[in-house]
Amino acid sequence: MAFSELVSFFFTMYLLLPTPISSNNISLSPEELAQIPVNFLDLAKKPDVFDWMVGIRRKLHENPELSFEEFETSKLIRAELDQMGIPYTYPIAVTGIVGYIGTGGPPFVALRADMDALAMQELVEWEHKSKVPGKMHACGHDAHIAMLLGAAKMLQELRHKLLVFSFFLFCFIKLICVHGQIGTVVLLFQPAEEGWGGAKKMLDAGVLKNVEAIFGLHVSPAYPIGTVASRPGPLTAGSGRFAAVISGKGGHAAIPQQTIDPILAASNVIVSLQHLVSREADPLDSQVVTVTKFQGGGSFNVIPDSVSIGGTFRALSKESFAQLRQRIEEVITMQARVQRCNATVTFNENGKPFYPVLVNNKDLHEHFRKVAGDMLGFQNLKVMLPLMGAEDFSFYAEAIPGYFFCLGLDDKTKGTFELEHSPLFRINEDALPYGAALHASLAMRYLLENQPESTSLKGSFHDEL
Ligand SMILES: [Zn+2]
Ligand SMILES: [Zn+2]
Repeated sequence: MAFSELVSFFFTMYLLLPTPISSNNISLSPEELAQIPVNFLDLAKKPDVFDWMVGIRRKLHENPELSFEEFETSKLIRAELDQMGIPYTYPIAVTGIVGYIGTGGPPFVALRADMDALAMQELVEWEHKSKVPGKMHACGHDAHIAMLLGAAKMLQELRHKLLVFSFFLFCFIKLICVHGQIGTVVLLFQPAEEGWGGAKKMLDAGVLKNVEAIFGLHVSPAYPIGTVASRPGPLTAGSGRFAAVISGKGGHAAIPQQTIDPILAASNVIVSLQHLVSREADPLDSQVVTVTKFQGGGSFNVIPDSVSIGGTFRALSKESFAQLRQRIEEVITMQARVQRCNATVTFNENGKPFYPVLVNNKDLHEHFRKVAGDMLGFQNLKVMLPLMGAEDFSFYAEAIPGYFFCLGLDDKTKGTFELEHSPLFRINEDALPYGAALHASLAMRYLLENQPESTSLKGSFHDEL
């Protein structure tokens, strides 16, 4: 270990030493707490962390896998966790992994990365282009994995150093091993974010048992590098899919009186569906109903027996979402009946779950603001408007306090960064250290500031010294 590293290591050690102790907070001064995110960012930018993250991200980018098929991705992550000596549980939700760093005791704080790619052809020509035709990491989940592994590496190295150092520092051994202080960071690598609700499967498997808070991030070309964006309260919409078959009676196009025309009925259904948002919803309560599928007929002179339609609906509150679902079903069936047709409506075909509204916890918003502000400067925290897009992190945030934010990618000096799901989507790899350091800092500061009262060292720590 070089001298400068030793100095910074001792400084970090000093920061983590819990003196003096208060009832449920390891009382570091505000300046000392503020230094933690800065130290993690410095560490994440060092070549042994940065280059390593870039290497992992590129490997993943070359080998994208779709939802619930992330077998090689999961294998690579497990190999890295093995290398770092981080214990984990596998498989969860087919390919998911849950890793643990820390004392194994409370408090537990979780960090999440998603693993799946999209079924689309990459059009970016570069050295590490997707090697799998028709599949691409076009939503940045390869970067999410690399950043969470980067955070894991930094936290785990810190823990190793803590344990080695604590050999010479009896009080720290007592702190870590006897009293179970500091806590545990839970690493969630989840499958199938892209429409399949992998988070729900992870949740159903009990991965958040005992976990007090969870953080997640998404890379975003909409914001400059070195900035983050989020908001307290609703961030992304609750989202569902509907499909309907509208059945009439087919026949000759020139003798319509002998048919029951499902094309006309379906057209009226679609127009009526538009009234749900424009006439029934509060204009200040954002909602979307979009019909994206209309299939029926195959001839110029034949009225078909039936027509299939389908689409998506979104809302920013649970109540509005439930209301929309009910009204979509009523409008389709009743409007079809007006035209003498029958309609059957189904929601979320193929067993895909509805995504709930993603609601950011207000207390965690304050925690995020402090940590990210200390790292990036408060002027680099952007306020984000809610999106009508959906993100399955919402399943976690519905179950326990959760917080999700966007990490800026954009850098005009490096060309244009297209939005997610574009075949021209690129990652600005300079953003990797920011994501890794934010993950590590959010978790570490959460643990330091939320020590359980029952295992508090109040009094005893100093007495034993
Ligand atoms: Zn996506
Ligand atoms: Zn995504």
